[in-house]
Amino acid sequence: MQKEQTVSQEKQELLDKDRAHMWHHMSPYNPNPMIATEAKGSWVTDIDGNRYLDGMAGLWCVNIGYGRQELADAAYEQLKSLAYFPLSNSHVPAIELSEKVSEWLGEEYRVFFSNSGSEANETAFKIARQYHQHKGQPRRYKFISRHRAYHGNTMGSLAATGQSIRKQQYEPLAPGFLHVSPPYCYRCPFGKTYGSCNLECAQVFDEVINWEGAESVAAVIMEPTITGGGVIVPPPEYLPKVREICDKYGVLLIIDEVICGFGRSGRKFGHQNFGVKPDIVTMAKGITSAYLPLSATAVRAEIADLFNEPGGNQHFRHVNTFGGSPAACALALKNMDIMEKEGLIERSAELGVLLRQKLSIIEDHPNVGDIRSFGFMAGIELVENRQTKEPAAPDKLTKVIGECKKRGLIIGRNGETVPGFNNILTLSPPFSTTAEEVDFIVNMLKEALDTLSD
Ligand code: PLP
Repeated sequence: MQKEQTVSQEKQELLDKDRAHMWHHMSPYNPNPMIATEAKGSWVTDIDGNRYLDGMAGLWCVNIGYGRQELADAAYEQLKSLAYFPLSNSHVPAIELSEKVSEWLGEEYRVFFSNSGSEANETAFKIARQYHQHKGQPRRYKFISRHRAYHGNTMGSLAATGQSIRKQQYEPLAPGFLHVSPPYCYRCPFGKTYGSCNLECAQVFDEVINWEGAESVAAVIMEPTITGGGVIVPPPEYLPKVREICDKYGVLLIIDEVICGFGRSGRKFGHQNFGVKPDIVTMAKGITSAYLPLSATAVRAEIADLFNEPGGNQHFRHVNTFGGSPAACALALKNMDIMEKEGLIERSAELGVLLRQKLSIIEDHPNVGDIRSFGFMAGIELVENRQTKEPAAPDKLTKVIGECKKRGLIIGRNGETVPGFNNILTLSPPFSTTAEEVDFIVNMLKEALDTLSD
């Protein structure tokens, strides 16, 4: 158990300033936010000296774990030699990183750098529309994504997001974004059972593209597994089927690897688990293990090269001042190098299997409806009743998260996504987590769940 909070004078002063000057994410003002002061490996320390295992790696992003000196050094050395140069020209860390990203993707891609996942997706949307103009199909402007998925906070990436609670106060968003049901076997939106279905969840893309008029559809965007929307893992045949449908209609396939990339799925990129080749891949978070902001939009070479054809009007009219900053690129290269040298992607795969095995101790809990995992991430869907599958009330999740925190464990949830279904606890720990720490995670989670019957 964490020690009782005794508010030191220093902390009180910081909290006063926080209240006076800060605006936090996604919540009304919290009078007692956790003030983190340092972190090492998978553990974060707060200003009171309490230590917490960060079972969410921040926001699914500190992939290799906290406190890696080599990453700090890589950024420091780069800042000393070249702090900045715009990517209308070039610099060495960006050149090397773009080559490395292509190598990890296993195909020839050209890489546009930005700072955040949202921007990476915005960039992808603009590239997709302009690509179709180059191909003589300027009316292809629509994008199709899935309900429940999150793609970012900007007007386009939020429009692609399929989470009404996060959108409704900001609408109208960018026009041209359509949504279909997710591949959600636990609550199949098509009333089917996996094994005896016709993959209606993938087939629906065929129907929607056809009914919208294929000549109006630019691209489909999807994560390999819906992550923040509730860890909704598709059947293995889903992504290949969607790829086939996109090809049939000349629609591009954008894969959002913002969370699933950089080892989280147990492979370099999440889509590599399904054997598909995307047209555009967006990535952020784990590219630097979140030590510095950086994102990328990788575009298949044949598509990118259309933007370089002679005529003077073909190029991509898009600038990003900070995107691909030298220090962030140098740090990302070091991050990928560490993942390779230390076998952290294989480690993530092993940890994922271990975590799923260990989570079997909560399988019979009366409030656990479904446990889903994808690489080293898991979603635990809480219900009121296992037979009816009625989603658990939000206060149950708040209680479990609070009880975990009391025991030194930070976990997440799919908060404020779609009405009535914010009932999934999430885990996405750093790859620095040990087998003993996996035990700690599941044991604390079990104790916390058991308090629901107190
Ligand atoms: N795409 C996915 C799948 C995400 O989970 C997120 C953020 O959580 C984004 C895009 C947006 O990334 P950012 O917050 O860096 O803009």
